[in-house]
Formats: sequence, structure tokens, C-alpha cells
Amino acid sequence: MTSPDVVPDRLRDHVMRIAARLLALCLLPAAAVRAPGRARHTACQWALAVRFPAENLAGLTEATRAAFTSARTEALWRHGELIGLTSGHRDAATQHQLFAVEVRRTGSPEAARRRVLPPNESSHVRGTAMDVRPVQGARWLERHGNRFDLYRVYDNEWWHFEFLPEAGGLAPARLPHPGFGSVRRSA
Ligand SMILES: [Zn+2]
Repeated sequence: MTSPDVVPDRLRDHVMRIAARLLALCLLPAAAVRAPGRARHTACQWALAVRFPAENLAGLTEATRAAFTSARTEALWRHGELIGLTSGHRDAATQHQLFAVEVRRTGSPEAARRRVLPPNESSHVRGTAMDVRPVQGARWLERHGNRFDLYRVYDNEWWHFEFLPEAGGLAPARLPHPGFGSVRRSA
């Protein structure tokens, strides 16, 4: 049986993919003027900024940002997939707040760490983590991200990717969840 809201969502995503790609195509000439030699890259970022107006790439490290924008340029032009940023860099205060909320929700710091890490351990605070959407975009990144040093690192978070140049193109072993294997006290 098909859930009634599944089909429209898929249809909407499909239409959005086509629309964003068309928009990127239309923006190519302007992008060629603005950034000679990087028209496809630039047009892709413009089109995705329209598709995902709330996204904010500020605060990602320069290398992380370059890897992410290059990856989604390839995703769009080669396979027609869109990759949007739900959450990138977070300042320590925001991360602390998220962690505190999760501690309250789950009842303990240990349980909270399965979903949210405290600021001193979070790669979002370091500017090297990206939560992406939609699911199809995340799947693309999971398959092709290694060429950009971008990897999914947790079994329980399909959306969370990290920039790990030290991995040398080989996906590191995936952890079941954030905080796995860590016994550090989460102050
Ligand atoms: Zn994340």
C-alpha cells in the first residue's frame, strides 16, 4: 500500500530537480561572465541557493566548503541530483543549546550523545561537518563523496557528512552513532 503523502513528495522532489537543473542551465551565461572558467560551478551554487533559500555555508572551513560545492556541482551536472545544506557550521553556544535540549529530551548526557555531541567534540563547531538533504542527494554523496573527501560517518544519521582529507579517499569505518566508543564526560 502506498502512503498518500509519499507520491506527491516524490513528484515534488522530481519536479524540483528538473526545475533546479533548468535554472542552472539558464544561469550558465551569466555565471560565465561572473566567473570565467567556473561557470558550471557558479551556476550550480546560484541555482541551489534558490532551491534551498535557508541554507548557510558560512563558517565551514574553506577546504570543506570547496569540497562540498565541488561535490554538488558534479551531482547536479552529471546526475541531476540536488544537494542542499540543512546545517553546516554551528557556533559553540548553539551546539551547547542543542546538546542541552537533547539531554533534557533523552534524560541523560550519555543518551543525548547518540544524536548530538557537546561543542568541544562536534565537527559542526569545527566547520567540517554538513547535514544535507534531500535523501537522494545524501545517497549520491555517500556513493561519490570520497572523491571530494566527504564521508558519511554515522549509521544513524544519513544526512551527516564530514570533510576528512586524512582518509585519503578511503571511507573510514562507519560508527553506529555520534559519541560511539567515547567514554569522555560531557560537561
Ligand atoms: Zn550533523
